[in-house]
Parts: sequence; structure tokens; C-alpha cells
Amino acid sequence: MTKLRVCGRLRKLWLSVLLTVWSTISPAHSQLVSGTMEVHWNEGSEDCVKNPQPPIQVHQYNAQTFILRESLCATYEAPFIYLLIGKTKALVIDTGAVADAKAMPLAQTVISLLPNGGSRLPLMVAHTHGHLDHRSGDDQFGALPDVEVVPTDLESVKTRFGIADWPSGIGHIDLGDRVIDVIPTPGHYSSHVAYYDRETGLFFSGDFFLPGRLLIEDTDADLASARRVAKFVERLPITYVLGGHIELDESGKTFFGTRYHPNERPLQLTRQDLLELPGIVEGFNGFYAKRGVYLLMNQNRILILLGVGAVILLVVIILTMRSLWRRLRSR
Ligand SMILES: [Zn+2]
Ligand SMILES: [Zn+2]
Repeated sequence: MTKLRVCGRLRKLWLSVLLTVWSTISPAHSQLVSGTMEVHWNEGSEDCVKNPQPPIQVHQYNAQTFILRESLCATYEAPFIYLLIGKTKALVIDTGAVADAKAMPLAQTVISLLPNGGSRLPLMVAHTHGHLDHRSGDDQFGALPDVEVVPTDLESVKTRFGIADWPSGIGHIDLGDRVIDVIPTPGHYSSHVAYYDRETGLFFSGDFFLPGRLLIEDTDADLASARRVAKFVERLPITYVLGGHIELDESGKTFFGTRYHPNERPLQLTRQDLLELPGIVEGFNGFYAKRGVYLLMNQNRILILLGVGAVILLVVIILTMRSLWRRLRSR
């Protein structure tokens, strides 16, 4: 009897040691706070005047995490905005494309989602990058108490997130029992960052990586970012990769600047998609390429090329007209 009890105790002790070792060495998979991406995003309208849509859609991923999207009828960019709530602070990632609070009550919506009906925590408003479709709502937050809006210039991003070694370092935001890693991802924009939420395993990729056009200003920087990110996520659990826009339908067709997105594909990309990104950007010619469903484009260069083309065409037309005029006159 006594021998059996000792054996039982030993087994329990052994099991608890095993569990402790396992929880230390295994990835945080089992500890991730889960959520749902069961949501149908508003598809906009063929006629937004006849069929106006609510300005903003809110999807509750879990109790402490919200995904907001500005309506296609309010802005064809229809950017996504993320709200992460910690114990002592909340974080908003991006503020969308519409400044006017009457047309787009973003700050009001965010405050209403904070705990205790808006008796709010300190709020940090940060961005993936400085393009206007990701920071036009900043002024709505700027006037509120207990709100810090982090500017999008490189110096502010480095200083505020503690990234001394740009772009190789990793910054951090502590929301109180919820740490967010800030990962430099220049390429689409020089001070672009992505965010990794250790609590949910969500990776917020902004315009660096999204289901649609990958607009690349600096190919070398973008490829280096893709490789660094792949290395960063190599040993991490990633539940979903969430970008700044959706520009594809279910069949892989790209939506270009339209306010109607029928059969839009889901927002979320996977860890595997992220790991494949370096292979997608590798060998990009710096102008335009189609890789799978992704359109890689350097918009600045394409615009310059179109501008030069237009000037050459104009010169050719003028020279032809002049020679025709001369011939007519000599007759
Ligand atoms: Zn952008
Ligand atoms: Zn954007």
C-alpha cells in the first residue's frame, strides 16, 4: 500500500517536471488567446449614392482585439484598422483614409470599444506607415485626453518603439500583460513597420504584405524586409497575417480603385504565405511583375515611365505637324 502511494507521488512529480520543461521549450502555441475571423466584409456598392453603406464595420476577433474597416463607399481604399487592448493601455494600428469625423467616426468608435464603456485606458495610436490612407484619422485622436499619436517619420518610429538598430532591430510596445513586437519592414515605405502580437499570434503587415498589389518603392529594402520577417516568424506561432487592404476577389482578380468588391477574398494570409514572400519579391525587375495572385509594382517608376512616354509622343506629334505644315506651305 505505502509502496503504491510513493510510486503514485513519484509519477505525479515526474509528470509535473515534464510539463514544466515542455511549457518552457515548446512554442507558445497552446498559450495563444484565440479569436475568430468568421466575418463577411461589406462589399461596398455599385452605386454608393443610391445604396449608401455604414462608414465603418467592426469585427470582434476576441474580447480584447477588434478589426475595423472603413467602408468602400467612404473610400475605395477601404483600409483596415486594428485595436488591441491590454491591461494598462490600448493600441490602435492605423487611422484610415478619411479625416472628417462626421463622415467617418473612427475615434468615437474606438473609444466606445474600450473597456467600461469608454472610460478609457491610455491609448497609443501608431501606424504601419505614413501613406495618407493609413493616417488621415490622426486628428480625431489628437485632441483626446490620454491619447498619444506616434508620428510616422523614421526618427519618431525608431525613438518611440526603441529600435536603435534600424532596420535589423525589433521594437516593443507593452500594453500590460500584452507585448507587441514592432518589426521594421521598409520597402513599400521607408519607415514601414509590421506588428506581432505575442498574445494572439496575429501579425499585422500593413501594405508590406496584403492580398492584392504589392507596391514596392525600394526593391532591395523590400526584399531584405521579407527575408528578415521570414526569419523572425520562423520559430513563432502565427495565427493570421492581417494586412492593410483587400484587393483581390476569390478567383484572384485584382480590384483597381473600385467601390464595389463582389466575391472579395478573405483578409487573412497565412504564416506559409509570409514565409514565401522572399521568393515572390526575389528577381523583381523594379517596375511590374505578376507573381501568383500578387501584382508587384513600383508606382513611382511606372508614373515616370508613362510621363516620359507622353513627352516623347508629344514631341513626335509636334515634329510631324511641323514637317506637314512646311510641306503644305512649299507647295
Ligand atoms: Zn501604403
Ligand atoms: Zn494602403
